[in-house]
Amino acid sequence: MSGYSTIEVDTGRMCMTDITSQVRRIVKDSGVTDGICVVFSKHTTAGITINENADPDVQTDMLHGLDMAFPDRPEFRHMEGNSYAHLRTSCVGPSTSVIVSDGDLVLGTWQGIYLCEFDGPRHRKVLVKVVEG
Ligand code: ZN
Repeated sequence: MSGYSTIEVDTGRMCMTDITSQVRRIVKDSGVTDGICVVFSKHTTAGITINENADPDVQTDMLHGLDMAFPDRPEFRHMEGNSYAHLRTSCVGPSTSVIVSDGDLVLGTWQGIYLCEFDGPRHRKVLVKVVEG
């Protein structure tokens, strides 16, 4: 038995996928009532963030904003040609942590956990570890 769970996501070219329900299911199945849940992306061109889950335009605007902040540039040297995706990934970060209380994630009303794809479409793996404490 591995010490963590894996969520697999097939992504689009550039998108944010809400994985909150899958993470919540892993927390419930873990049997942990009070502790910490760590959500970690194993990838260098896809990150993890928590943001609004009510208006889908927020996700569209976030992706657009990151596109404007970190555009592709002719002076980039990385031979794979996706340095913009590496920059966006480090900006949002590879992981997040959420408090677990009463066997559930403690999230704000409008918060969801997202896998952010910056260089898809790809098959992505997100690791989830729930720790009692
Ligand atoms: Zn690359």
